[in-house]
Amino acid sequence: MLAYGGAYAFFAVCCAIGAGYIGKTRGQSFWIWFTVGLVLPLLGNLAAALSRNENDEPRRLCPYCQTVCMAYQAKCMKCATELDYPSEDQILPSVNELRAMRAAGRA
Ligand SMILES: [Zn+2]
Repeated sequence: MLAYGGAYAFFAVCCAIGAGYIGKTRGQSFWIWFTVGLVLPLLGNLAAALSRNENDEPRRLCPYCQTVCMAYQAKCMKCATELDYPSEDQILPSVNELRAMRAAGRA
């Protein structure tokens, strides 16, 4: 029984690290997905893999504190200013679009 528990704990931690890593590559918190993976091994990994890829989401600047926020956010994470959905010219490129631009510029 003890051996089984140890094997399960090892399995859960491995899944948790995997889920955390998947989340991180999608622009989200490693530790949030690590926790999800630890509580729900395999399911947590699946959820992380299916989660929204923040690196693909358009962003915008908070008009008050100039913090970069996700375009879909209704409030600034830093100063809590209410944000309307940004117009075309307020949209900043997503992280992946910026990476693609930088890669293109270097080539
Ligand atoms: Zn702000």
